[in-house]
Amino acid sequence: MLLMLDQVMQSESQSGQRGNAFSSIRFAIALVAVVAIATVAAWQIGSRSAQPAIKSATLVIPPPYDADRAFGYLNQICDIGPRPSATAAMQRQQELLTDFFEKRGGKVELQKFNVRHPETGQAVELANLIARWKPNSPKRFLLCAHYDTRPFPDRDPVNPKGRFVGANDGGSGVAALMELANHIHLLPADVGVDIVLFDGEELVYREGRDNYFLGSEHFARDYVANPPKVPYIGGILLDMVGDKELAIYYERNSWNYARELSKSVFEKAKELGVEAFIPRIRHEIRDDHLPLNQIAKIPTIDLIDFDYPRPGIGAPRYWHTTQDVPENCSGHSLATVVYVVHQWLMSQ
Ligand SMILES: [Zn+2]
Repeated sequence: MLLMLDQVMQSESQSGQRGNAFSSIRFAIALVAVVAIATVAAWQIGSRSAQPAIKSATLVIPPPYDADRAFGYLNQICDIGPRPSATAAMQRQQELLTDFFEKRGGKVELQKFNVRHPETGQAVELANLIARWKPNSPKRFLLCAHYDTRPFPDRDPVNPKGRFVGANDGGSGVAALMELANHIHLLPADVGVDIVLFDGEELVYREGRDNYFLGSEHFARDYVANPPKVPYIGGILLDMVGDKELAIYYERNSWNYARELSKSVFEKAKELGVEAFIPRIRHEIRDDHLPLNQIAKIPTIDLIDFDYPRPGIGAPRYWHTTQDVPENCSGHSLATVVYVVHQWLMSQ
């Protein structure tokens, strides 16, 4: 996915604009105020980075949610290796997941579509994996993630053409939805779920040239062209939910397109005592939820912890680097997200 605007940066630029409007006489006072605000902001960033990690780590996730099993799924997916769209590794992942979801009562379909490969220009076949449970039940929800990995870790400071297994970015959403599939049979009789894994979220070799969200756009257009008998009430997208130091904030596009759903899920987290869900807007993320909201008009939120591993100047950054590996993720974080999402579904 793409990060559009960081909330911290935004508030800094706003205070900068306000500062410019001040007269020169008031400049000194303004400067003192800005320094004070910056000090408080820096302190908040620091405490934010430590606080959720401690709280999420101490939260006891009740059975049947299983952190070790979820982490096992993440390892299983990453053991396949890098899984870019239109590769043999992606096909192996599709076979593994088809078998997995069918064993848990899902009816699986590969929704195939063709795109031009951004590097070769040749037509290649991509496929969203759709697993359906109770398609005719009156309350239907969409749970989704992308399952392709970026071709290269192009933000890696040492080896931008190195090996990228996308444990958090690509693997974590899949592993979480695998764990969730173990609990679908517990949902109320009138609640049905589709798990959809999008291909081609980031078949991006060159930024600015190559398109994101190929799979979710195809899915959204197909949803409009061939509407299902029972439309989705809402959707939840999981992306980068495996970070050891889990901290999930309201995401701005989710807030704008699906505010009630955002509030409802975070309210459930609060009720469960899950403090890793922090009801404040932090990032604006362009992700697979945009085509779902804009084209398919399915109110969909993105649950994402973009600060991987944590915010702050000088903190390491694992996003789109060779460091996005299972060792930097945690089954506890995966289980925490599954706990919230599944409990939220239980109360629908
Ligand atoms: Zn990515």
